[in-house]
Amino acid sequence: MTYTIVPPALPSLPIIGSDQRFPIRRVFCIGRNYAEHAREMGASVDKSAPMFFCKPADAVVSDGADVPYPSATTDLHHEVEMVVALGSGGHDLTPEQAATLVWGYGVGLDLTRRDLQAQAKAKGHPWDVAKAFDHSAPVSALRPAAEATLDANSVLQLSVNGELRQRTTLGEMVHGVPQIIAALSTLFELKGGDLIFTGTPAGVAALQRGDRFHAELIGVAELDGQIV
Ligand code: MN
Repeated sequence: MTYTIVPPALPSLPIIGSDQRFPIRRVFCIGRNYAEHAREMGASVDKSAPMFFCKPADAVVSDGADVPYPSATTDLHHEVEMVVALGSGGHDLTPEQAATLVWGYGVGLDLTRRDLQAQAKAKGHPWDVAKAFDHSAPVSALRPAAEATLDANSVLQLSVNGELRQRTTLGEMVHGVPQIIAALSTLFELKGGDLIFTGTPAGVAALQRGDRFHAELIGVAELDGQIV
């Protein structure tokens, strides 16, 4: 097989404690998975109908690389989220089956052009230009699930320039990880290499050029980076 142009590189993430890397196939995101964040956005949570959107795999920023301030916005927002990496896939899964797909965990930012999202919501347009832009998904190195201790008291938090902006426990999630994966698997056939952003807690706010962020899923994964 030869290609007409040089094929694009496969996006990937480093793995804590390993020289191997995790290959990224797709990036799925759930919206409104923390009630307080839904409230701050003027929305409500529909427990029976999780809301999903996607980012392209090459929107992932790995290895703490600088994040360029995107074009076409004056209101770039941070959304700190636990990121789940799948080691295998399937479709129409039960939550029990879905739980076995998890390969590892990380922490990431679902960067959002909030002004473009507000315009899209007002016009009933898709969210792609608000969510799926280049460099919109900085993600930490992944911790293999077998080495991660997570429970309802695990803390997810984000500081910007040393100031705490967002903080929650995972127990505040509306849909838990097995439920998210099971629901996604009714819409898409999932496969190993898929990443899932599991929603952001309250406290989303603007980032400016020069801001340094420190995101943490305490005891599991950390992400440091800068908006440039
Ligand atoms: Mn989000």
